[in-house]
Amino acid sequence: MRLVLVGPPGAGKGTQAAFIAEHVTVPKISTGDIFRANVTQATPLGLQARAYMDRGDLVPDDVTIEMVRNRLREPDALDGFLLDGFPRTVPQAEVLDDLLRETADTGLDVVLELVVENDEVVRRLSGRRTCRECNHIWHVDFDPPQVPDVCDLDGGQLFQREDDKAETVANRLEVYAESTAPLVAYYAGRGLLVGIDATGPVDDVTQRAIDALRHFRAGEQRTAAGPFEAGTRHQAAVDARDTAHR
Ligand code: ADP
Ligand code: AMP
Repeated sequence: MRLVLVGPPGAGKGTQAAFIAEHVTVPKISTGDIFRANVTQATPLGLQARAYMDRGDLVPDDVTIEMVRNRLREPDALDGFLLDGFPRTVPQAEVLDDLLRETADTGLDVVLELVVENDEVVRRLSGRRTCRECNHIWHVDFDPPQVPDVCDLDGGQLFQREDDKAETVANRLEVYAESTAPLVAYYAGRGLLVGIDATGPVDDVTQRAIDALRHFRAGEQRTAAGPFEAGTRHQAAVDARDTAHR
C-alpha cells in the first residue's frame, strides 16, 4: 500500500503513522524525522535545512524532493510506504506522482487527512515531547510518560522541538494553510482523499483511520470500473465530524 498522511502540524500524523504503518506493514517515512536526524548529525543536508526548520518554514522543494527520491529508492520502500510530512506542496505532490509512475508504474493508493481544529493543534504542539533515541512522541498532558522527560519505551531522554515554540507554531500554521492545505483539494480531485476526525483518544483515532482505510479500499474495488466522485468521502468525514461536535 502507498499511503500519505496529511494534516496540520500537531494533527497527530507522527503518532498515527507509527500505528498505521505497523497495521498495513509498510515502512513509515517521516521527512521531518529525516531532516532532524541530519540536523543532529550536522550533515550538509542538515546544515541546509536547519534555518528553514527553526523558523517554521518549509525546506525548499528541490532539496526535499531529492531527499525523498533517494529514500523511496531504498529496497524497503519499493512495495509500499506510509509518508508522514511529504508531500507538503502541490509541486512535491506532482513530483511524487511522476516518481511512482517511473519507479513502480503505479500511483498512490490513498491519502488520509487528519482533521483537527487549530486551537487543539496549538495545545498539542505546546506539550509535545519526543524521545531522542526512538523518536516516539509523547505529550505532557494528553499522553505523558510514567517518569517526566523519560521515554517509557527505551529510557531515552525526551526533548521539546525548537519549532514547537509559540511564535514558530503560528508561522507553521500559516505555512500549512498557504502551501499544504491545497493538497486536500488536489487529492480529492483525484479521488484519493479520505478524511477522518482526528480528535479524541489516540487509540480511537487509530481505529477510525484503520476503518476508513478499509472502507476506502472496499469502495475502490466496487468502483474499479470508474473514477470516484471528487471529494465525496472527504465531505462525508467532515459532515460526521461536524455532527459529532454539535
Ligand atoms: P504531527 O506529526 O501531525 O505534527 P504528532 O503526532 O507529533 O503530530 O502529535 C502532536 C502532539 O499531539 C504530540 O505531543 C502527541 O502526543 C499529541 N497527540 C497526538 N494525537 C493526539 C490525540 N488524539 N489526542 C491528544 N493528543 C494527541
Ligand atoms: P514535521 O516533523 O513534519 O513537523 O517537519 C518539521 C519541519 O521539517 C517542517 O516545519 C519543515 O521545515 C521541514 N519539512 C518536513 N517535511 C517537509 C517537506 N515535505 N517539505 C518541506 N519542508 C519539510
